[in-house]
Amino acid sequence: MTNAKQAILDKASEHCQQLGERLTPKRERLLDLLLAADGPKSAYDLISDHQAAYGDAPAAMSVYRMLNFLVEAGLAHKLATTNQFLACSHISCDHDHEVPQFLICDRCQAVEEVGMQRSLLTELKASASSVGFEMGSQQLEVHGLCRNCAQAAANAEL
Ligand SMILES: [Zn+2]
Ligand SMILES: [Zn+2]
Ligand SMILES: [Zn+2]
Repeated sequence: MTNAKQAILDKASEHCQQLGERLTPKRERLLDLLLAADGPKSAYDLISDHQAAYGDAPAAMSVYRMLNFLVEAGLAHKLATTNQFLACSHISCDHDHEVPQFLICDRCQAVEEVGMQRSLLTELKASASSVGFEMGSQQLEVHGLCRNCAQAAANAEL
């Protein structure tokens, strides 16, 4: 394990303690798998990753429970539009977590977590509620093409 990843896991464990919770070895393994992933993962991807890394496949129920824990603790995020999970990119940061906005590439499935100004969310909520719509999620998921894929698409058109 790289030192950078260990530092993130240490910080995650500290964060859980502050919440009065514990980053148990099982939860830590799952977070570790998310950190090692190069993109968002479904619960079933994580079960097979777990099998490959540790030689046993945890039950889907317990994986969902642990993922929920990580999401509630702010260590991971769930993408509602794809039903996938990814580690928060700000675990080792000291700043407050901003409203997360996820830029999801529909071609290569890469996801980037970028912060969004709270005022923007307030505006979104206001425009939704002006037509009587109540916004549920506190995060935004934007689908499109990442820089690489947009470039590849532009090249293909030449
Ligand atoms: Zn985050
Ligand atoms: Zn940060
Ligand atoms: Zn892409």
